[in-house]
Amino acid sequence: MKVRLMDIPNTGESFEGRDFNFELDVESINTRVNLTRENVDSQSVPPPPYVFASPIDCAVNLSREGSTVFFKGECKAKYSTPCSRCSEDLERPLLFSMEQVLKPEGRDSRREKVDDVSFGYYEDKEIDCASILEERLMLEVPYVVHCEPEDPGDCLNSDVVKKYMDKGEKEVDERFAVLKNLKLLQ
Ligand SMILES: [Zn+2]
Repeated sequence: MKVRLMDIPNTGESFEGRDFNFELDVESINTRVNLTRENVDSQSVPPPPYVFASPIDCAVNLSREGSTVFFKGECKAKYSTPCSRCSEDLERPLLFSMEQVLKPEGRDSRREKVDDVSFGYYEDKEIDCASILEERLMLEVPYVVHCEPEDPGDCLNSDVVKKYMDKGEKEVDERFAVLKNLKLLQ
C-alpha cells in the first residue's frame, strides 16, 4: 500500500491527516517471518514457526509539512506458534502502534539516524505504508511464546513438563547429596 506525497494533506504534524486502511499480505509475512528458521546454522536454536492468520488489519494516518511526512500506524494481527515448553499450538494476538517521521531519501539526506525506529526515509515521493508496518511487525514477533495460566492446556500441568521438572530436581539433589555429609569447619 503506497501513498503519493501529493495525496497527503500539508497540514503539519496534526491530527488532521488522512486515514488509510488496508491489509498486509499474509503469505509474504509468513514466508518472511519463517526465513530466519531456515537460515539458522546447526549450532543455534532456531526460532519457533509462526503462522499468521488473515487478515492483518492496518490503519495509517498521514500528514506532512513540506516533504517531511508524519506517519502514525496501527496493526492488528493474529498468529499461532507452538508453546516453547509443551509444543501445544497457541494462538496469540499481535497488536502494536507506531509513529515515524519520514524524510525524502536523497543525496543530501543524512542517514545517521537510521537506527532510530522513530525516523525513516521514503523514495520516489511515495510512502510505502505496508512495508513500514511489515518491518515493525517483524520486530514485534516475540521469540519465546509459552502457555499462560489462562490457557486451557496450561503446560505447567502437562505430564511432559512435570516429568522434566521432576528429573531436573533429582539431578540437582544427586549433585549436592555429598554436601549433606559435610560438616562446616568451626
Ligand atoms: Zn505449553
